[in-house]
Amino acid sequence: MTTDIQPSQKIAWDDSVLPFQLDGADIRGRVARLDGVLEGILRQHNYPPLVEALVAEMALLTALIGQTVKVRWKLSLQVQSKGAVRMIATDYYGPEAEGEPARIRAYASYDADRLTEETPFDQVGEGYFAIMIDQGEGMTPYQGITPLEGKSIAACAEAYFAQSEQLPTRFSLSFGKSSGPDEPEHWRAGGVMLQHMPKASPFAAKGEGSGDVLTATDLVHGEEEENWNRVNILLDTVDDLELIGPSIAPTDLLLRLFSQETPRVFDAQAVRFGCSCSEDKVRQSLSIYSAKDIEKMTTDEGRVTADCQFCSAHYDLDPASVGFESEATSSE
Ligand SMILES: [Zn+2]
Repeated sequence: MTTDIQPSQKIAWDDSVLPFQLDGADIRGRVARLDGVLEGILRQHNYPPLVEALVAEMALLTALIGQTVKVRWKLSLQVQSKGAVRMIATDYYGPEAEGEPARIRAYASYDADRLTEETPFDQVGEGYFAIMIDQGEGMTPYQGITPLEGKSIAACAEAYFAQSEQLPTRFSLSFGKSSGPDEPEHWRAGGVMLQHMPKASPFAAKGEGSGDVLTATDLVHGEEEENWNRVNILLDTVDDLELIGPSIAPTDLLLRLFSQETPRVFDAQAVRFGCSCSEDKVRQSLSIYSAKDIEKMTTDEGRVTADCQFCSAHYDLDPASVGFESEATSSE
């Protein structure tokens, strides 16, 4: 359902993604705000602030990108690098039914002794940025990958869309720790994503084989280029407080930035922190091991244990009940 924007719609915007379209410029976009989602992700871990900032940025990108794809099961973003932060992984699970929230989970692995005093992105070295889409059983998973470049994960994501998808894409993100009079210090993130509508893609063939790194502006020409540049200049005027909220509603922000471009909004998608791990899945992943292998994994206390990297859930199982020779499977 689409609606023309009414100023100051009173809706709780935190932990939601608002899709919009600029009719005047063939550009679609998203405004996302994360609060409780980040709390849910970060309280499971005890990351240093630099790592928390990277995880917050990735989670925000995941919410924005996840909502642009019709995700029936899972969209994942991954940064793998040779830097102090070796890996940041996020998953976005599409809503199971209309009106249900999408769920996001995330984790990072890093070498604490290699973290420096520099910016969060300086902790990420040479490596790659990947997007994977898994639409569930029977569907071939999709994966696209680009080298890490630029000065932020958002810049890497922009390069990914330009090079792998030929979609001119822009992110303007803000994230940080905030505190109100009645609330403790906690992470918030907010951002705007702009994407030129796919009909720009026939131009993407230009420059093929040149080996040049494509940027968003290489993909649009003529009137489309003018539209893209004009809307980007408008987005350049946004400030961190407008992005991160909560004092300004996303609808008010869109009117402030793009009133001349006829912004139109669609139903907002709620997002929540959520993990898909379960004892059944742990048993499934152990079902490929023989009794001998299971014996090697068994602790001195006589248990097989597993911890979820995403949500820190701890699974503690009877060795006799796991593996392909277990009582559980052999009795079937
Ligand atoms: Zn979990």
